[in-house]
Amino acid sequence: MAFVTGSALQRQRIVVQGIVQGVGFRPFVYAQALRHSLSGFVLNDSLGVTIEIEGSSTALARFQRALREEPPPLARIDSVVIEQVQLRHESTFIIAHSQAANERQALISPDTATCNDCLQELFDPIDRRYQYPFINCTSCGPRFTIVQDVPYDRAKTTMRPFPMCPTCQAEYENPLNRRFHAQPNACPVCGPHVRLLHWTHDDLPNSTSNPITTTVQQLAEGSILAMKGLGGYHLACDALNVEAVQRLRQRKHREAKPFALMVPNLETARKLCAVSDAEAELLLSHRRPIVLLKQRSDRKSPLAPSVAPAYDTLGIMLPYTPLHHILLRSFAEVLPQDRLPVLVMTSGNLSDEPIAYRDDDAQERLMTIADGMLTSNRDIHMRCDDSVMRVSAGGPQFLRRSRGYAPEPIALSFDLPLPLLACGGHLKNTFCLGKGHQAFVSHHIGDLENLETLTSFKEGITHFQNLFDIYPQAIIYDLHPEYLATKYALDTDIPQKIGVQHHHAHIASVLAEHKLIGPVIGVAADGTGYGTDGAVWGCEIMVADLLDFERTAHLRYVPLPGGEQAVRQPWRMAAAYLAQAYGDAFLKLDIPFVKRLDRSKWHVLSQMMTRSLNSPLTSSMGRLFDAVAALLGLPEGVAQTALLYEGQAAIELEVHATRAALTEIPAYPFSIEGQSPAIMDVSPLIRAVVHDIQQGVAVPHIASRFHRSIAELLAVACDAMRKQTGLNVVALSGGVFQNQLLLEQLRVRLEAMAFQVYVNRRVPPNDGGISLGQIAVGAARLRTIV
Ligand SMILES: [Zn+2]
Ligand SMILES: [Zn+2]
Repeated sequence: MAFVTGSALQRQRIVVQGIVQGVGFRPFVYAQALRHSLSGFVLNDSLGVTIEIEGSSTALARFQRALREEPPPLARIDSVVIEQVQLRHESTFIIAHSQAANERQALISPDTATCNDCLQELFDPIDRRYQYPFINCTSCGPRFTIVQDVPYDRAKTTMRPFPMCPTCQAEYENPLNRRFHAQPNACPVCGPHVRLLHWTHDDLPNSTSNPITTTVQQLAEGSILAMKGLGGYHLACDALNVEAVQRLRQRKHREAKPFALMVPNLETARKLCAVSDAEAELLLSHRRPIVLLKQRSDRKSPLAPSVAPAYDTLGIMLPYTPLHHILLRSFAEVLPQDRLPVLVMTSGNLSDEPIAYRDDDAQERLMTIADGMLTSNRDIHMRCDDSVMRVSAGGPQFLRRSRGYAPEPIALSFDLPLPLLACGGHLKNTFCLGKGHQAFVSHHIGDLENLETLTSFKEGITHFQNLFDIYPQAIIYDLHPEYLATKYALDTDIPQKIGVQHHHAHIASVLAEHKLIGPVIGVAADGTGYGTDGAVWGCEIMVADLLDFERTAHLRYVPLPGGEQAVRQPWRMAAAYLAQAYGDAFLKLDIPFVKRLDRSKWHVLSQMMTRSLNSPLTSSMGRLFDAVAALLGLPEGVAQTALLYEGQAAIELEVHATRAALTEIPAYPFSIEGQSPAIMDVSPLIRAVVHDIQQGVAVPHIASRFHRSIAELLAVACDAMRKQTGLNVVALSGGVFQNQLLLEQLRVRLEAMAFQVYVNRRVPPNDGGISLGQIAVGAARLRTIV
C-alpha cells in the first residue's frame, strides 16, 4: 500500500474515552483506516481505546472527522486526546491485542434494543438466524444484564456456556464484520434457546413444536404467561381479553396500578394514544423505555378496562429483544384481522416484591400467577426493570431510570475528591457510585422494605464496585434513621460518613445534572423526607447550593395522625387538615366526607394528636394532595379506607383535574407569613374547597383549581425569595413533580415571572434521583474538609 499523497507524513496517538468497548468501535476505526489508507493500530485498554495512526495530514484530518461525526451508534465519546508521535513507517493497519491494566475505566454499555440490521436478518427466511430469538451484533443486544465481571469479554458473561460455532467465530474474528468482538454473538447452532414450560395443563405441548408458536396461540386463547426478558421476567397476556387481564390482576394482587403494554410498532401505539414527535422518538430509541402516553379521547379504547383503571394515560413500549419482535409479529398473525395485537407486559412479581430474574425463583414465585413460562437457557446476571419515561415540561423525564440507561454514568462538572458511595432513599431506591467526574447511578432497586430488596441493593453495590473499580472512601446517606439504606451506611466500615437531608439531595440532583453550582431557589415538593428538626418534611422552599441549604419557607405543619398509617389512609390527612382549618367544629360540616367519617376512629386519633403521640408534624405536599383527594371522595371506593398503592390519591386527583381542562381559573386563597422560614398556610384553601363542595361544584373543577392554586402558592413563594436574595434560578424536584399538571403549570407561571427554571431530566424527580444529589452534596462537603 502507498501512503504518500503529497503532504508530509505524520503519526498520532489518539486516546478515546467513553463507552467505546463492546460497541464496534475498533472495527469502525479499522474500516476508517483502510478507507483513508492509513497505517498503525487500534487496541482496547483500561482507559478505553488507543489508536496510533500514520499517514498524510489530509488523510489524518479526514480520519479524525469520521471519528467525530460517524462513530458507531452505541458509542459515547467523552474525550479524545491526540498527541504527535514518532513515525514508524508500517505498511498495514491492525487491531492489536487488548492491554490489561490496573485501572478499569472502560465503561459497560446499557442493554440495547435490536438494531435494524439484525431485525432484517431476523425476518429473512434465508438468513441463518431467521427467527432466532437471540440474534445480536456490536450495535445491539444484552450488555449490563449479562456481564458478570470485567474486562467485558464473553467468558465473563452469562454467554460463557455457549462456545461459538465456526461460522459465528469467523464473524467474531473478522474486523469488517458487524459481529466483530460482539461478545453475545450466537446463532441457532451454538447459542441459547427458548423453551416453554407448562405447569397447569395436563397436555404438555409436544416438545418438537415451536415454543414461540405455542406461546402466541396460548396468549390468543387467554393464557397468562411468564416471559424471560433482558433484565427479568414479564407477565404477559392479551390486553384486549377482559377476562385474562382481570385474572392477572387478581393473581398478582395488583388491584389498581396500571399495567404496562407492549405493541408491535408505532402505528399500533397511535391507535391507542396520541403520540407526539418527542414521544415517538423516545418509544423508538434504542433504549426502549416504557413511555407514558395520553389515551386517545376521540375513540373508544379496545383495551380491557382493567388494564389501567381510572387512568387517562397508558404505559407503552415497543419490542426491544428479538424474542419480543417475533412474539408480537406472530401474535398479530394468529389474531383476527381487526383485532389489535397488544400485550400486557407487567413485571414478573407479586405486588411489592422485586422482579423475578432467576429461572428457579421465577418458576416458584410466578407459578401461582402464570399458566406457563417462556424461558431460556441464557442466565440474567443483573436484575433490571424496564425504564419508565414521559415527555413533560418541554422534555423527556424519568419516572424510573433503569434498563437501557443504567449503568451509563452521568458526567459531573467537577471531580469527586474521593471515590464515593451514596445509598439513596427508601422508596424507589437507587444507589450511586462516583469516581473522577463520573456518577454511576444504579438501576432501579425498588422499595427497601424487605430482605429481598435489601439483598439486591447490597449485591448491586458489590457488582458496581467491581465493574467500575470504585472502592468508596466516604459514604453518603439520608438522615432518616430508620431507612435500611441509612442503617447500611452507618454499619459499613467506610471511615467517612456524610448525612444529607432528603430534600437538599433532591434539589442537588437537579444542580448536578445541569452542572449548576448554585445557589438557587430550590422547590422540593415531596411525600416524605426526614427534616433536620425531626419533622416529616415535604414542601420546602430553600436557598441551596451543593454544599448546604437554608430552609426559607415551608408548608404549615399539620400532624400526621398515626404516623405511617396516615400515608396509607388519606382520610386521616383530610381530617387533620379540616381540624387545622376549623378546629373541632369541622365535625359539623355538611359535606359527604365528614358525614361518612368514622367518629370513634377520629376521636382516638384526635386524642393521640392532642398528646403528641405517634403524630409527627409534617409539611408534606404529598399529604396535602392526599387530603384534598379524600375530601373529594377520591380515590373512588377507598377514600375513607386505605390506598391500594403509593401515590394513588394524588394520581387520581390529577386525572380528574386534567379532565376539567380549565385554563383561566383563579387560585384558591392561601397565605404566606413570617420569615426564615416563612409559613405557607393552606387553611384558607381548605375552607374554600369545602365551600365549593357544599355548593355542589364538580370534582374535576375543584381538582383543577386546587392544582392551579398550588402552582400559584409555590410561584409566589419563589417570588418572595427572589426579592430577599436576588436569586433568579429555580430548581424543582421531589416526588410530587411526577404530577405533570402541577409541574407544567408551575413552570409556565415561573417562566412568565422571568425565572430560569430547571427540572430533572437525567434522573427521576422522585426518590430514584436522590442518590445522584447525595453524591454531589457529599463531594462538596468533602472538599471543605480534604
Ligand atoms: Zn444488531
Ligand atoms: Zn453459531
